[in-house]
Amino acid sequence: MARTEGKELETPSSTMPPRVALVRCEDYKARRVWEAVGRGLDLLGGAKKFVRPGEQILLKPNLLVAAAPVKLVTTHPAVFTAVARHLRAAGASLSFGDSPAVGPPGVTAWRAELASAAAQLDIPLADFSKGVRVSFPEGGLAKRFTIAAGALAADGIVSLPKLKTHGLTRMTGAIKNQLGCVPGFLKAEWHARMPDVEHFSQMLVDLNRLLQPRLYVMDAIVAMEGNGPRSGDPRPMSAVLLSSDPVALDATACRMINLDPALVPTITWGEKHGLGRARNVEILGDPLKQFIVPDFAVNRRPAIAPGKRGKLASVMSKWVVPRPVLAPASCTCCGTCVQVCPVKPKAIDFGDSNQQLPPNYDYGRCIRCYCCQEVCPENAITIQTPLLGRIIHR
Ligand code: SF4
Ligand code: SF4
Repeated sequence: MARTEGKELETPSSTMPPRVALVRCEDYKARRVWEAVGRGLDLLGGAKKFVRPGEQILLKPNLLVAAAPVKLVTTHPAVFTAVARHLRAAGASLSFGDSPAVGPPGVTAWRAELASAAAQLDIPLADFSKGVRVSFPEGGLAKRFTIAAGALAADGIVSLPKLKTHGLTRMTGAIKNQLGCVPGFLKAEWHARMPDVEHFSQMLVDLNRLLQPRLYVMDAIVAMEGNGPRSGDPRPMSAVLLSSDPVALDATACRMINLDPALVPTITWGEKHGLGRARNVEILGDPLKQFIVPDFAVNRRPAIAPGKRGKLASVMSKWVVPRPVLAPASCTCCGTCVQVCPVKPKAIDFGDSNQQLPPNYDYGRCIRCYCCQEVCPENAITIQTPLLGRIIHR
């Protein structure tokens, strides 16, 4: 089980201010990243604060889909390698794994060049195909999960998120990264069970409270802005962030991209449910103001969740809530969006076209989970706010 045990290990404290190590790192050159991660660990008290010699530690990168590092969809192998080397030097025995949104973990890790990075260090791929049912009575909302066997088998988890925009939660970082510990299409099932972003975020917070990663190391060297988390644009941020508090870490990343942390429901629910703290964060290392990118392309509109604004708004939601929109000219009819759509019957489908024409949306069925936008390999799906929604929130 991946819970933190032992008083001497670093865990978020309710009395001390949360600490985030923010370290400048200009590019993905191996030595530079290794030094930046080492400096960040030293600022937090050293790698031995997070792992004990002989412990089995799972490295959990972001492996959303099979994409080369240059696409910036996945945690960069240089960050993975740097963290692995430092933890191994502290005596940890390592494995790695993630469950992608589509495709088998091994193939995804290979395309992301994490499999080769891991092979060089003799780090095995953990079993993220098989799931194990786990009760979590302490959960604020979700009290039962199916977790990848490879995540449960580890003594502890070190999470390696990538800073990107996200259609549903605005940004994806430390808290959201643990969704990949839920194997296969069970991830999409959570969307169907909790279509409201507020509930979905509470579930993510519960998941983090269950898994309790000991340390989060965020790859923000080159972040993704715009139509993330798969099809956005590169934005150099030149930073690596480290913390044992995922709420503080994500809130710091938000401040870097000029996004109010109060607009990110994973952060607000994380604070409410004791996962960590977003305010009064102590920044160690380089000054935050050096990293702020005021025009980072991210959704800064107030959230409009389906059914959140009373009965009338619930009925009107299809004319108010942002929805996925498909550009047929960019679509190759690959079918990935249809495959991941979690509602039954599907809210995006090929109908009678036998996959010869782009799929169509049924917005009456669509729960606005944006899984289709998240996985489209052709940047053919964007999230757009209908006119009425734009008028209401002008
Ligand atoms: S919209 Fe994207 S994911 Fe869907 S079929 Fe077209 S190319 Fe594939
Ligand atoms: S069509 Fe897209 S946004 Fe709508 S429910 Fe399906 S995957 Fe989610």
